[in-house]
Amino acid sequence: MDIEKIKEKFKITGDFHTHSVHSKVGPYIHGKGKIIENVAAAAFKGLKEVAITDHGPADFYGLSLKKIPEMRADIAEAIKAFPRVKVYLGVEADIVDTPNGLDISKEDFALFDFVNAGYHYVPNCHMIKNWLAFRFPCPSGIKESLRKQNTERIIKALTCNDIRILTHPGDKAYIDTHAVAKACEETNTLVEVNARHRHPNCEELRIYAGYDVKFVISSDAHSPEKVGRYAKSMQLALSAGITPDRIVNIEETGK
Ligand SMILES: [Zn+2]
Ligand SMILES: [Zn+2]
Repeated sequence: MDIEKIKEKFKITGDFHTHSVHSKVGPYIHGKGKIIENVAAAAFKGLKEVAITDHGPADFYGLSLKKIPEMRADIAEAIKAFPRVKVYLGVEADIVDTPNGLDISKEDFALFDFVNAGYHYVPNCHMIKNWLAFRFPCPSGIKESLRKQNTERIIKALTCNDIRILTHPGDKAYIDTHAVAKACEETNTLVEVNARHRHPNCEELRIYAGYDVKFVISSDAHSPEKVGRYAKSMQLALSAGITPDRIVNIEETGK
């Protein structure tokens, strides 16, 4: 189905993965929009819900948990200005080697409305190895050993925590897609079709589609104008054989 047809037939109701200026290190800002700008973009595009999900503290651009009251205040201001949009404070936690497998402890889950989780090139030895293996020719033995470790870490993070969305699985780290899909099925975790990253791709989405999982389309917007982007991801999902009723934030327009 072509993009124009997709925009006519389907609309996105909520975007549960967007970044704001609160993802930053020193003067280097990761997300370009203020919270109110992301919410304004969601309102103008007719979304009912939007979440601010900056990176967890282990990330290079990770947010400091001390920022949460400021972010909550920004959200309250945005809700006042755009009362029709439900706004959530989430986080995109990093999958790391901690007791619960994330850079957000179980106690700190209560600071957020929900927690998403994914792999990023955080400055630790494991992810530096993944970065090298992803970018340069890599002996198959090393690749397979990383795939096994990465998969185990995802399964641990999913089973130890109540994660809402597994963000861009397969991006930045090799994984066993079947094993991850099964873990998403068992833990009721949404599989993300991400508008910004190359994974999961069509072939990988076909594997997820073979399990009893639901999907979510996320813009992963790092600037307000990208909030609510969904058409290409919807096209990808359809081409992977995913039916619209399995995507939790897509509505058919009836056209
Ligand atoms: Zn991410
Ligand atoms: Zn993200």
